[in-house]
Amino acid sequence: MNKLNVKKDDTVVVIAGKDKGKQGKIMAAMPKAGRVVVQNANMIVCHTKPRKQGETGGRINKEGTIDASNVMLVCPKCGKPTRVGHAYEGDKKVRVCKKCGKNID
Ligand SMILES: [Zn+2]
Repeated sequence: MNKLNVKKDDTVVVIAGKDKGKQGKIMAAMPKAGRVVVQNANMIVCHTKPRKQGETGGRINKEGTIDASNVMLVCPKCGKPTRVGHAYEGDKKVRVCKKCGKNID
C-alpha cells in the first residue's frame, strides 16, 4: 500500500534530486504510483509535433512526477517542512504537523 501523506494543493519542499530545496504546490497526486507532481519542480521538456493545421511544433516545459518520498510537506500553520502524523478528531482521521502539533487538514 502506498499511502501518500501529501495531497493536491499541499505546499511541499523537494528534499532530493535536482530540484532539492524547491518549494511548490502539489498539482497532482498519484497514490497508487506513490508519485506527485510539484509545481515548477522536476521540469521536463516535451517536444511536440504539429498535429492540427496551423499548429506549430515546438518544445514545452512541463512538470514531471517526483517520488512522494522525495518531498516533504510544508506545514501551513508553522511554515516549516515537517513529517506528518495522524490523529483522530472524532471519527475523522486528520493529519497533524509533527513540529507544531497542529491539525493540517
Ligand atoms: Zn506545523
